[in-house]
Amino acid sequence: MEYDVVIGLEVHAELKTNSKCFCSCKNEAGDEPNTNCCPVCIGLPGALPILNKFAVEQTIRAGLALGFEINRTAVFERKNYFYPDLAKAYQISQLVKPICINGSLRIGNKDIPINRIHLEEDAGKLVHGADGSTLVDYNRGGVPLIELVTDALKEPHIESADEAIEFLEKLRQIYIYAGVADCLIEKGQMRADVNVSLKPKGSDKYGTKVEMKNIMGFKSVYRAIQYEIERQRDILDDGGVIEQETRKWDDDKGINFTLRTKENSQDYRYFPDPDLLAVKIDDAKIDEIKRTMPMLPNELKEKYMNEYSLSEYDADVLLQFKHVSDFFNQCVADYNQPKTVCNWITTEIMARIKTESGAGPILISKDNLVWLMKNVDNKKINRLSAKDVLSKVWGTDLSAENEAKRLNLIIDIDTGALDEIIKKIVEQNSNVVEQYKTANDPKILNYLVGQVMKETRGKANAGDVMAKIKELANS
Ligand SMILES: [Zn+2]
Repeated sequence: MEYDVVIGLEVHAELKTNSKCFCSCKNEAGDEPNTNCCPVCIGLPGALPILNKFAVEQTIRAGLALGFEINRTAVFERKNYFYPDLAKAYQISQLVKPICINGSLRIGNKDIPINRIHLEEDAGKLVHGADGSTLVDYNRGGVPLIELVTDALKEPHIESADEAIEFLEKLRQIYIYAGVADCLIEKGQMRADVNVSLKPKGSDKYGTKVEMKNIMGFKSVYRAIQYEIERQRDILDDGGVIEQETRKWDDDKGINFTLRTKENSQDYRYFPDPDLLAVKIDDAKIDEIKRTMPMLPNELKEKYMNEYSLSEYDADVLLQFKHVSDFFNQCVADYNQPKTVCNWITTEIMARIKTESGAGPILISKDNLVWLMKNVDNKKINRLSAKDVLSKVWGTDLSAENEAKRLNLIIDIDTGALDEIIKKIVEQNSNVVEQYKTANDPKILNYLVGQVMKETRGKANAGDVMAKIKELANS
């Protein structure tokens, strides 16, 4: 039987703020365990939360970047449950009145409806030892977290693992460009819950959904969805029934298994947190955040393609990593040749920084790269020499200009001397020149250019040399 697949996503992202959501402890990953904690974030009795205004602003910024409506009144509620990583046995979250409602995100030609983004606090982290012991680190407890929930009850749906990944990647890019979150997957700063259901093709009655929580990394999300679709398809094909449940994805084994049958929101006994007033958000605040919104990927893409005449492919390569497009923007501000700058960055720079999971830092200054590009364009240094210099200065604080001078790569041979050398080479290779004249083979021409470049120790401009040889050969 053929089925329609319906996928819902709940995406958690840790906000980029200096301090936690309801206290002034540092929001910093990677510190010594249990050093960024206080009575509020470990939930000691009587400790009172104080809302971090910037966390609210960051949530609004995330919402505006995705076209959400902003609720003028937002309410914090307690979500009650017990788990060792949650010392106060409730999480401050939002249920009925979240900060952002009704947004969407475009993937392919579909605008995927998004129900809400709400602000909540993260829980601590359990660290399981090899000896079977478990330790708890509360540094992450109270870190501001935004949860985005797609609306799988509305069309169009996310219908495949590929679409889910595209959604997550786009969302991550928007959060990073908007400056609301770093979304470092390996640090757990962005995590996804996935729910999957199948229904007979064309049917408008939804199937039973199965949820998989806290999947780390997009590759795992992809595999988990593929696996779950197949699992449900097999059950339905055999005439079975899908149980509503939460399943745990085991990435090592490549399977999932039942964690618990589905709880619903009533089980959490949500109620408004009596320690926190409702948040009033006025138009002035929303306008201010709109005004200070950094350029988002789609706006930059339009600028690159329309204003700079870059291809869509090049624009996408530049925009894939924010630090790369930032560097591109800085270089273009200094040297207004977007096409040239793009070529250097998408080839030479990307080749040096691209890693399996992303992109490392750019280890050349804007000034050095601009100097190299300008001087290649001005024919003061050959492209190949410039690439050598780039390698020499990469990861150092050397100046490209000094290196080019030190290595004697600046083209400064005078025209008279160069003409003499070219004449000499052409005479010495008269039979090769004859071959070139009959075959008109660019390889032969390149050989002759190479001879001249060798004689000048790379200090002539290859293009000029080529033109001159052609002229002599045809005279
Ligand atoms: Zn604290």
